[in-house]
Amino acid sequence: MASIPFKPTTQFQLQLYSSTILLNPFKFHTSLPRISSSVHVTHVETQTTEQEISHTRRDGKTNSNENGSGFSSFTPKYKKSYSGQENGANRVVLKDRNAKLKPKRRSSTTTTSNNKAVESKKSKIDSTLRIGLDMCSKRGDVLSAIKLYDLALLQGIVMGQYHYAVLLYLCASAATGLIHPAKSGSVNRTLNAPNEQEFSLNDKVIEHDSHLLSSSTVDEFVQFMKSSAKSVRHDDNGIKVSEDVRHYALTRGFEIYEKMLSDKVQINEATLTSVARMAMALGNGDMAFDVVKKMKEDGINPKLRSYAPALSVFCNNGDVDKAFIVEQHMLENGIYPEELELEALLKVSIEAERSEKVYYLLHKLREGVRQVSPSTADLIDKWFNSKVASRVGKRKWDVRSIHKAIKNGGGGWHGQGWLGNGKWTVSHGIVGSDGCCKCCAEKLVTIDLDPEETEKFAKSVASIAAQRERNSSFQKFQRWLDYYGPFEAVIDGANVGLYSQRKFRPSKVNAVVNGIRQMLPSKKWPLIVLHNRRITGDKMDEPFNRSLVEKWKNADAIYATPTGSNDDWYWLYAAIKFRCLLVTNDEMRDHLFQLLGNDFFPKWKERHQVRFSFSETGPVFHMPPPCSIVIQESEEGNWHVPIASELESEEERTWLCIRRANSPMAHQDSSRVNISKNVGGPTHKCPPTSSDSPHNKGDAKSSTRRKNQVKVTGKTRGSHCRGKDAPEEMYRSLKNILQPSITSDHCSILPELKAAEELGRCVVDFQI
Ligand SMILES: [Zn+2]
Repeated sequence: MASIPFKPTTQFQLQLYSSTILLNPFKFHTSLPRISSSVHVTHVETQTTEQEISHTRRDGKTNSNENGSGFSSFTPKYKKSYSGQENGANRVVLKDRNAKLKPKRRSSTTTTSNNKAVESKKSKIDSTLRIGLDMCSKRGDVLSAIKLYDLALLQGIVMGQYHYAVLLYLCASAATGLIHPAKSGSVNRTLNAPNEQEFSLNDKVIEHDSHLLSSSTVDEFVQFMKSSAKSVRHDDNGIKVSEDVRHYALTRGFEIYEKMLSDKVQINEATLTSVARMAMALGNGDMAFDVVKKMKEDGINPKLRSYAPALSVFCNNGDVDKAFIVEQHMLENGIYPEELELEALLKVSIEAERSEKVYYLLHKLREGVRQVSPSTADLIDKWFNSKVASRVGKRKWDVRSIHKAIKNGGGGWHGQGWLGNGKWTVSHGIVGSDGCCKCCAEKLVTIDLDPEETEKFAKSVASIAAQRERNSSFQKFQRWLDYYGPFEAVIDGANVGLYSQRKFRPSKVNAVVNGIRQMLPSKKWPLIVLHNRRITGDKMDEPFNRSLVEKWKNADAIYATPTGSNDDWYWLYAAIKFRCLLVTNDEMRDHLFQLLGNDFFPKWKERHQVRFSFSETGPVFHMPPPCSIVIQESEEGNWHVPIASELESEEERTWLCIRRANSPMAHQDSSRVNISKNVGGPTHKCPPTSSDSPHNKGDAKSSTRRKNQVKVTGKTRGSHCRGKDAPEEMYRSLKNILQPSITSDHCSILPELKAAEELGRCVVDFQI
């Protein structure tokens, strides 16, 4: 998961526009549209004088009905646009544009000829306008887009939803200070306006540009844009815009939106989200929230991004209650906050010392996010180190009811509120291959689906697959499984055979099949699922390849999915049905897997997916982690929080180990452990090891071992030892994962084999 930095917003930019203006009258060159016979309203003013600013300021503050348009006038203007009333002063500006007074002033003859040209070449101009706006969108060039809008108005070009969406997207982005170039007005989700600090004097930002004045038609201007090949400097973080452009874009953005309303162009989610973002730029959370409510009223489904502006303003302004009203609205509409939103809510709850909200959010993060980004982890750290956190918590609780809650919740949490009292200790540590926290020695839990959930999950996968696969081919597969199953591992044959090269290599599948088979308790063949084009495809008639396929067929270990099928459904279903291992490096994030939802799939995947790589000596298997990589709340009210990062090995992962400073360490002397048992109920403890150094910040990663990677030497025949690479824990955990799928009658010599293996810490290799 990519980490999402949380930018501390010391000051929400543009929080209150008018106050900003008042504070920095000389910093912002406002270029607000005004009526003036000498000033062309459509151009970008770059030479607003100080006098003009103070004039604007006075007007904006004292009398919004006057000609000047301070931003404070936007709120009523915006609200009026819903009721359809006209506001005199502001409307004058619009009428100035809408009534096309400008062309008359400039030259009536050009206007007439222009109008005729517009009619005769309407479609051409329409497409030119679209091309022009698309160019602006790709370049993140808000000023040229506004210029195109003005020219289109002058020429009487009718604009549709698409044009408005691009315009509003650019205006909204510029208003927040950062434009992310996009193809078609799609809106990125953002919860933080860029900070003042991010705009240093040396930054190249979009500035007003005099070239914008030169063209007088859309066509001319688009030609100019094409020839200029102007590319605005930007990186992944987007394009920064100067202060005056921000304000200009905000002014014009609202005006464009009003024009869209008055033209009765159909509004959609994207345009309204842009409007909400402009409201955010104004620092007006209520307005941003009203926009989302309007979506519902108009039958438009808001998206997660639609809520971001309102949530952002309330969170940045410390308005906890309003922020949670937004969250409630989201949930009521089936929109689930993700880490970005939960992090913002967490931040504001911590600042407001709302312990019950923090508790609620920790569970929301556990459910929906599982592992937190480093920035969220920092917030959590901050919370537990706060005085408020040390004061909250029950001193006495019913151990049995906590125990019951944990059982009912599937393990790893109870949700009964803060337990214990006193200061918390937050340590950064790792979890060993035995699933024990290296800081406190608490055994972390593994959370898998229970048999009932598994069955439900398997059924839902089967029903989706059956709908999508033709000619009841999936039902045939189900019958095949009933006959030839169960299996202890399923191999995603295509993923293995295509590992690190484009051509399918059956030899790789063979190596992985043999490798995983050595590790399975039953030593039974795994099931290889392959699309039939792999079996009949290129080079498959070569004797070696053919012999491999024959071998698998004879062992009833391969299922070839029919032409036109999607083999993903087959390997996934088989692995769920048998609660067995699934060997694949597919991260299972694409569309197909999204259909499965978040109730079961993430839990199941974590416990059953085996990733692999190849070393010089053969395949290396990356087994499921020794505990569930999810926020865990113990029976005693302690917390373990995994931090998301790109890891080579699960054991490198940093966890926050959070417990009351006065709570006993798990591997301290037994009398103290007993005390803890009396207070908080039994917690699974791990035996102490000499190398453990509890609460040792910083050296978490130094003792990294990689026990859950298993190398299998494919070249050695017969029985061989895996020595230290194959810990007993691995074998045990594998048996735990597979327990329900193992049937007793696979092989009568199994017990003897197992005994022999355990005696020599060896594995008998069944390689053919
Ligand atoms: Zn711990």
